[in-house]
Order: sequence, then structure tokens, then C-alpha cells
Amino acid sequence: MGVTPLTEILAEPFEERYAVPAINVFNDLTLEAVLAAAVEKASPLIVQTSVKTVRSVGSGVLFAMWNAMTAGIEVPVTLHLDHCPEREVITECLRQGWNSVLFDASELPVEENMRQTVEVVAEARAFGAAVEGEIESITGVEDGVGSDTAAERQDLSVALEFLRTTQVDVFAPAIGNAHGSYKRAPVLDAQRVSDIVSAYPVPIALHGGSGLSDEQFRDLISRGCAKVNISTALKETYMKSNLAFLRTAEERRKWDPPSLFRDVRRDVVELTGSLMDLFGSTGRAR
Ligand SMILES: [Zn+2]
Repeated sequence: MGVTPLTEILAEPFEERYAVPAINVFNDLTLEAVLAAAVEKASPLIVQTSVKTVRSVGSGVLFAMWNAMTAGIEVPVTLHLDHCPEREVITECLRQGWNSVLFDASELPVEENMRQTVEVVAEARAFGAAVEGEIESITGVEDGVGSDTAAERQDLSVALEFLRTTQVDVFAPAIGNAHGSYKRAPVLDAQRVSDIVSAYPVPIALHGGSGLSDEQFRDLISRGCAKVNISTALKETYMKSNLAFLRTAEERRKWDPPSLFRDVRRDVVELTGSLMDLFGSTGRAR
């Protein structure tokens, strides 16, 4: 319990086919609220930060908040760096104490991606940390990383060679998923998850989770997606909750920041809890 390596957090979910939400936080309020939801739901939780958040808050301040807020926590939680193409940011976060990183070299040719991922895995292991890898960019820009062009998928044999060579702990394949809000219901290649997992049993990270249907989540999780990333849904909840509160504050001409924070926190806790229920992680930390 408490801060736990990513591989340990994902072992049981992968085995028993449920998933742990991996939620991108971007400030103290969202960090505190998702941790509170994990405690309330007795659920494991993966907290993620984008490179943009690491830059805007600072890795030292972010990690100090993480340390303070997880001290004595009674559910398994882990801190993960989301999509990071920059090796120096990976090193910086590993030095601070992040538990895992997603080295995103998907823009590089697979050979070069593989060569560098091997190095990142060795670097992370020295810190007792884990690595998520990818060979195809996930469609859509997220916090300044990525592209809107639909990702090209590699052959299964290339994916398997990448997994065997790099020994990454989690794999993030492109399956028709996308970052941001889906403009129309996505058509997913769920079979690809099954194909990868049956050939090489590694927990799969599902990116672009915001906006998939409950049915799509259940199907993908049953095939081995044990880490489900949620970023856009939290940002929307956070911004809309602020907006609703501020509209009322304007009408009533009452300007009380702590009441704003309480309302927004409640909505973030509620969203996080509902994801834990949906993904089946609720009650698993008891
Ligand atoms: Zn992603």
C-alpha cells in the first residue's frame, strides 16, 4: 500500500482483467482530489503528469506535493510521466522519484525508437522505475505532444520485436483510439489488443480513454488493457465545474475562492470515482 511500483499496481488487474485509471493531473487540487477518490473507493490509482505540467509546475514542486499528499495513504498509488519524447525530462523526473515514464519516441523510425527505449529502460531500472513504450503515435495532440494525423499501425511482428527487445513494462499500441474529444464514435481494433497480449503477455495502456463508451471500455479491459488513461474528461470536468461556479458567483456577487475549490474538488472526486467503478478497480485495494 502507499506508493507502489507501476508493475505491481498493474499485475493483478492484468491477471484478473480489470483496469486502473491513469489520470492526468495538472495542479494541487486535481492531485489531491484524485487521491481522495482512490481512498474513498479503496482503489489503486495511477497519477500521471504531462511534460507540460512538469514544466508549468516544476518537477521539484510537483514531486514535493506528491510526497506530502501520499504520505500515509492506504491504497496503492504510483506517479507516472505521460508521453515524453525528451530524454532530459525523463531523467529529471526519474531523479525526482517518478515511478514510471512513457518514453514517446513514436515519431522516430522503429529501429531508433527501439535503440533509445532500451537505454531508457536501463536508466529507469537503475531508479527502480518502470517504462511504458509505444511505436505508433496515438492520434491527436495532447498538452503539446503528438499530431492530428491518424497513426499508422505497425505489423504485429514489429510490435512483438519491440516488446522482446526493449522489455518495456507496459505497451501503448494504436488501435484507432485518439487523444482529445472524439468527433464521432471511434471504430476500435480491439482484436489487436488480444493479438498482442496472447503473443506477449504485457499490460496494455489504453490512451484516448475520454469519450469511449462503457461497452468499449469493458471489452478492451477484458482483452488486457489494464491501464486506462484519462486526461480530456478530467480537464473538461474541471473547467466546466469552475465555469458553473463562477457564473453563479457573478449572479450572486459572492466571490469566495474556498467555495469554488470545494465545488470543483467534489466534481473531480466524483468523476474519478465513477471511472473506478466502471473499470472495476473499486474495492480492489481493500
Ligand atoms: Zn496518450
